[in-house]
Amino acid sequence: AVNIDTVYKSFGLLNVLRGVSMAVREGEVACLIGPSGSGKSTLLRCVNHLEKIDAGLISVHGRLIGYQERNGRLHEMHDRDVAKQRRGIGMVFQRFNLFPHKTALENIVEAPTQVLGMAKEAAVAEAREQLAKVGLSDKANSYPSQLSGGQQQRVAIARALAMRPSLMLFDEPTSALDPELVGDVLAVMRELAESGMTMIVVTHEMGFARDVGDTVAFMDGGVIVEHGDARQVISEPEHARTRAFLAKVR
Ligand code: ATP
Ligand code: MG
Repeated sequence: AVNIDTVYKSFGLLNVLRGVSMAVREGEVACLIGPSGSGKSTLLRCVNHLEKIDAGLISVHGRLIGYQERNGRLHEMHDRDVAKQRRGIGMVFQRFNLFPHKTALENIVEAPTQVLGMAKEAAVAEAREQLAKVGLSDKANSYPSQLSGGQQQRVAIARALAMRPSLMLFDEPTSALDPELVGDVLAVMRELAESGMTMIVVTHEMGFARDVGDTVAFMDGGVIVEHGDARQVISEPEHARTRAFLAKVR
C-alpha cells in the first residue's frame, strides 16, 4: 500500500505539487489523469524518490520513502538505502529505455543478476517466465531495434517484473506507441492488475482507467481535484474541472 500525505514539490519558483494526498490500498490499481503539466509525472517520481519532496510524507508498505526517523526527526536516507527501496518498486516510462545492445532476455536478466546477485541460470529461467507472461517468448533473442514499440514496452514491463516488485508505477506507458500497438500493452497491464499487483498508472487511456482502475485521481495545477471510484470519476465526475478535462480527451 502507498500513502502520500500532503506532499509539496517545487522546481525553483514553480510549485508543481501543492499538498497532494492520496492513499493506494494493497492490490489497488490507482489511475492518475490530468492535463499536461499538472504534476502527474512529478508525483510518480516522488514515490520512488527520483525527485525529493519539499514537505509531506510518502510511505510504501508502511516504510517512509527516502527518509528515516531517528530521535523523532526525519533524516534523509543514504543513497544505498534509497537504491534498496527502489528495487521493490518497478517503474515503466513512456519511452522504453531498454539497453539497445542487449537482447530482450539479456535486458531482463541484467538487474536480477547484477543488483540482486541472482544466479545466471535462475535469472534466465525467471526472465523466460516473464517474457511468456507478456506474450514474447519467441522474442527472447531479439534486440530492441528488432522489436516494435509495443513489444519493447512489454519487455520493459517484464524487466521491471523480474525484480519482483511489490508496487508498479507506470507513466503513460502507451502514449508513445502507434495506436494499433496500444492494446497489447494495456492487455499485459490488465493481466498484471488482475494478478493483484498494486499499481499507480498515469494514463490518457480513459477506457483503461474506467475498466481496469479501481480508483481514479484527477490532478490539475498540482492538486488532486477529484479522487474516487474509477467508474464514478470517469462517467459521472463531480467537479467542473474534471468534466471539462474529460470532455477534451474523449
Ligand atoms: P504531462 O502530461 O505533459 O506528462 P505532467 O502532469 O506529467 O505532464 P510534470 O512532468 O509532473 O507534468 O510537470 C509538472 C510541471 O513541472 C511542468 O510545468 C514541468 O515543466 C515542471 N517540471 C517537471 N520536472 C521539472 C524539472 N526537473 N525542473 C524544472 N521543472 C520541472
Ligand atoms: Mg508526465
